[in-house]
Amino acid sequence: MLKRKLSKKEQYQQLLKARNQLTISIILLPIILIVLYEFLENWLENEKLVIIIIIILLVLGFLFTIFHFLAYDLCPWCKHQFFMSSRKLGNSRGIDIFFRKKCCNCKEPKNPDSFLD
Ligand SMILES: [Zn+2]
Repeated sequence: MLKRKLSKKEQYQQLLKARNQLTISIILLPIILIVLYEFLENWLENEKLVIIIIIILLVLGFLFTIFHFLAYDLCPWCKHQFFMSSRKLGNSRGIDIFFRKKCCNCKEPKNPDSFLD
């Protein structure tokens, strides 16, 4: 597969876009499943089956969302993971992932705002 080589700026913008999609998915997924639960509850007699279906969809949804995100979680500068620190796992605060603008491994970009139009 031939891919046009993206500039660091484009890669960085893609990275932030992927992070936003992750945030939206994590917020939307439970809402979708609650609506789905209401729907399935009326449609299926067996409530246990409904709960099992919802749990399977929840797990699949989160796995898909996270793996999709991890595919983009690559720092344009150091080629390590941008949001998830691979070296100092104990140091990273989980919530950082939703606010981080700099790579957790190499601290690039030095001036994040210059990359955002
Ligand atoms: Zn980096």
